[in-house]
Amino acid sequence: MTGNKHLTRREYLQKTAVLALGTGVSGCDMSSPKTTPANGRRQASSESSAYDNGSVPISQSGWATPPNEFADYPMLEGDIDADIAIVGAGLAGASLALHLTEAGVKVAVLEAHQPGWGASGRNAGHVLPTLKDINLINGFADGGRRFLEAFREHHTIPFDLSEKYGISCDSAQLGYLNMCSGVDSYEEQKKAAAFWKEQQGQQIAFLDTADMQRFTGSSYYPYGVLYESGGRINPYQFTNGMIAAAVDQGALVFGNSEALSINKNNKRWQVSSENGSVTAAQVVFCTNAYPGSIAPSLGNNFYPLTAYALSTQPLSKEALEVINPGRATLSQAPVSLNPFIIDEHNRIIMSSIPRASSPEDSERHFQDNLAWIHRTWPESKALNIKLEHYWTGRVALRDREFPGVFELDKGVYGLMHFNAWGNVMAPLMGKLLAQGLQADRMDQLPFPLEKPTPVAVPAKQDILIRKLLIPAARIGQKFNIL
Ligand SMILES: Cc1cc2nc3c(=O)[nH]c(=O)nc-3n(C[C@H](O)[C@H](O)[C@H](O)COP(=O)(O)OP(=O)(O)OC[C@H]3O[C@@H](n4cnc5c(N)ncnc54)[C@H](O)[C@@H]3O)c2cc1C
Repeated sequence: MTGNKHLTRREYLQKTAVLALGTGVSGCDMSSPKTTPANGRRQASSESSAYDNGSVPISQSGWATPPNEFADYPMLEGDIDADIAIVGAGLAGASLALHLTEAGVKVAVLEAHQPGWGASGRNAGHVLPTLKDINLINGFADGGRRFLEAFREHHTIPFDLSEKYGISCDSAQLGYLNMCSGVDSYEEQKKAAAFWKEQQGQQIAFLDTADMQRFTGSSYYPYGVLYESGGRINPYQFTNGMIAAAVDQGALVFGNSEALSINKNNKRWQVSSENGSVTAAQVVFCTNAYPGSIAPSLGNNFYPLTAYALSTQPLSKEALEVINPGRATLSQAPVSLNPFIIDEHNRIIMSSIPRASSPEDSERHFQDNLAWIHRTWPESKALNIKLEHYWTGRVALRDREFPGVFELDKGVYGLMHFNAWGNVMAPLMGKLLAQGLQADRMDQLPFPLEKPTPVAVPAKQDILIRKLLIPAARIGQKFNIL
């Protein structure tokens, strides 16, 4: 690897403070479904804002194509009753609905579009069995003991739930590999892995250059840390599968039913959409980075950040032999600019942050990733890898690296802000919150119950990450510093 003569990689990173966005980055459908043009050229500027705010039609997501056989849920008409009303049917709302109905609770779910429309139908598919900030969890009231126990038991929750409910969602536990570009990042990754290996009993393998060559088909990254319980999932199918399982257990699910207002009605809450209402003892908002206007305190308590993902046409047999034959989910250290999977349709799926100046430019973002593929697997230059789908979605970031569970009023809650690591955490926290609600022990949750507080500058992370750090990291990558 060539290096900048005046700046070591470490110095470069310190100067730019480049950060890896978790698993990889790693979404309001306002128009009729369209597909990304096969040539991936720039769209008309009127569409640019939908790319910019992660609201392109869900039909553009590679996870929703080829078309899946999910029923469209009917619009809520008339007034109904439930024990608990859930607003939003992404991974969080779907898991909450599933675990509540499992416990016999009568649930009604309102979704503004259809299940999986938000980030959950748009993400990069990485299943990462770790947490960002253990110190923060150690600061929970019980020292984090109960949450870490739950994580230890359920860090494979997407695989477990898909198996339990027979959800067909490309659930593949083939490992999560942090590819390290040098000894320093390898040592850091090994240090971080020690906690998961020793305290959480995870199977973790440390790979040298020969292992990396054998496992990934490349030795560009000379070391790797492989979390064997990680892998990939089709998050759109997983979300819809959980919703379908909840419906089988008695949940009422309504699509195209945006919750527009919430009012107290005789000690219960009435959540109203355009043509109906749900009256329930408790309400949980699972609206993440698409909060709408119904609960203003959930509209300004996080940092929205747009991310993109793309999928290629299915790879040829030859390409499948050359590129990542071990099929683990790949990310890179010290900076993960090119999170990578090959899915069940033999497509590469990658994800990052779109350029602020041209979020709609699918071909340009594809070329960024193709350059990385060519660099990592030089034989791939002779292979014809083509873009098929490009889409964007929205994540919600917080100041603390842990999702938010909020109490807005007595009986009104929020479960949200999963950054770029919702595939494990949203179903897990949906399960844990369901236990607290069902037992009526919200004082016993294994994580803090907070009041929503506004962030000072909601655009902060967009400016910092999208406009400064990622562009700097791209330059670093161009000059082979990363
Ligand atoms: C490009 C990209 C890549 C990512 N990669 C990964 C990854 O590889 N691994 C990983 O673990 N995580 C990843 N993430 C993050 C992950 O997708 C999210 O953390 C997760 O999907 C959040 O789920 P959710 O249910 O909280 O929110 P969402 O899936 O966003 O769902 C919120 C839902 O609420 C609905 N809603 C909002 N307001 C209302 C209302 N008033 N009435 C009714 N419905 C309403 C919306 O329509 C939406 O469907 C990625 C995200 C993106 C965008």
